[in-house]
Amino acid sequence: MSLDFVHEMSFASAILDAVMKVARENNAKRVKSVHVVIGNLLMLNPEQLKFCYDVVTKGTIAENSKLEIEVVKAKIECTNCGKVFDEYVGICDECGGILKVEGGKEMFLKKVEMEV
Ligand SMILES: [Zn+2]
Repeated sequence: MSLDFVHEMSFASAILDAVMKVARENNAKRVKSVHVVIGNLLMLNPEQLKFCYDVVTKGTIAENSKLEIEVVKAKIECTNCGKVFDEYVGICDECGGILKVEGGKEMFLKKVEMEV
């Protein structure tokens, strides 16, 4: 098992915790599907995350529920000239300005479908 895999496993557990909380609040009998939003800077592999989710939900009311993953990108831009970057590179290659990172590390449930 690689370190990456452990990373996905801990996030899968966190998703399950959040799902179970919502399920309890709604007295759900079964969870059918879960839509989760994750930031790209969390460096999660969606396929591995799905696999880990299937593992951690075994034996819970969320077993066999469908996990939909939406990856949102961080907004990275130069504080000086405003140039937008796809990934964090330290300083701006145009003007040497400092880069500002917004988002990219969020994780939240957007939707949980369940049987009550
Ligand atoms: Zn710049």
